[in-house]
Amino acid sequence: MDLDGTGGMTADLAVVGGGVIGSFVVHEALRRSPDWKVLLLERSAIGASATAWSAGVSFPLGATARHRQLVRASADRYHALRDHAAGAFLRPVQMIYVLRRAHLAAFTARVVDAALRPVTAAERERVTGGILPDLRLEPDEEMITHDGHGLVVGARPMAEALVARAAGRTEVQIGQRVDGIEPEDAGYRLRTEHGEWTARRVVLACGPWTPPPLGEPTLPAAPGARRKRIAALHTRLPVTMDDPLVYFVDDDLFLLPLSAGVALVSFYRDEWDTDPDSCDGRPSADDLRQGRAALDRRSPAAAAAVTGGRAFCDLYTDHRLPVVTTSSGLPGLAAVRGGSGSGVRLAPGLATEAFDAVTARDPAHSQRGRHA
Ligand SMILES: Cc1cc2nc3c(=O)[nH]c(=O)nc-3n(C[C@H](O)[C@H](O)[C@H](O)COP(=O)(O)OP(=O)(O)OC[C@H]3O[C@@H](n4cnc5c(N)ncnc54)[C@H](O)[C@@H]3O)c2cc1C
Repeated sequence: MDLDGTGGMTADLAVVGGGVIGSFVVHEALRRSPDWKVLLLERSAIGASATAWSAGVSFPLGATARHRQLVRASADRYHALRDHAAGAFLRPVQMIYVLRRAHLAAFTARVVDAALRPVTAAERERVTGGILPDLRLEPDEEMITHDGHGLVVGARPMAEALVARAAGRTEVQIGQRVDGIEPEDAGYRLRTEHGEWTARRVVLACGPWTPPPLGEPTLPAAPGARRKRIAALHTRLPVTMDDPLVYFVDDDLFLLPLSAGVALVSFYRDEWDTDPDSCDGRPSADDLRQGRAALDRRSPAAAAAVTGGRAFCDLYTDHRLPVVTTSSGLPGLAAVRGGSGSGVRLAPGLATEAFDAVTARDPAHSQRGRHA
């Protein structure tokens, strides 16, 4: 397939950004429109940015109706991937939540399609006696779980597998940073330092980077959009891959088995306006210090056993709710903005919304087939 501007054909869809969200957009487009010619332009490599460092946890939690709808749609699509090559990068995990009794009702209202129950004595013992023998719990804290597992997504290999599976029907251009997009009669012209491409429709999935300039009209900004640093620690703990994820809800901190004897510790990092070009995945001294302090409040032994960590940034929007933005003056163009620390768990649902947005005026693409 020759889609370049030197006499090549116009793609049905160009996706800018090959993170987990852009990769799901490619997958969704070819699932819904198998005859399309799709073009993926990625400035670096597939899944190599925020996606590469993600813990990949898919909690069945959503604060608002739209949030819950995205959680539900994404969980359904992940479920449907079980027989796809990318399904190899999905791992079920039990979720155990620790929170104050007074916060239980509000938390229960956030749970999507799962019935909470108290942990059994054996489940409790696994956490307090096995994984974290020095765990500090408040007297009014409850430990609860739900049947039906949560999911951990190997986000980078998942993105690579989705793109590899689409390879015969997609032109994948890595090392191509799109610097400008201009409307044309039949769609849009996309420019990089190395070439030009044309496409009838465009989805921008640039993660924490500012999307390429569009001129006038432009897309509305995502509400409240601001970049935030996200960091996690790695610590030596007596975990196995069968152990649960333990989420300290009131601390916004969770522990996830990464491999035998090593757990990932996700903690809240209150650092804003991080430049994504300054992130290479390595944690800063501040990341490590703040993460150790947060973990030390729960388990000094776990905090003392930290071996390193990871860090990147993500775009956060109001209410941590990723959005798909469009403009009536830019038909067939949409941007997915604001992964908000949940871009992996919500990627399939966001890809569906993006596909619907760029085909909204397309008679051949009614909403039929959405859930097929
Ligand atoms: C430590 C850590 C833990 C996390 N844990 C979780 C978790 O447990 N669950 C969860 O759901 N999420 C988690 N996240 C967040 C999640 O990783 C992100 O929300 C998600 O990866 C965002 O995906 P994306 O495709 O939007 O962005 P990215 O992966 O950053 O992809 C965007 C891509 O666009 C490309 N690009 C940008 N501009 C251009 C351009 N002009 N031209 C061409 N290409 C361009 C970039 O090179 C990049 O590859 C975590 C993140 C971190 C850092």
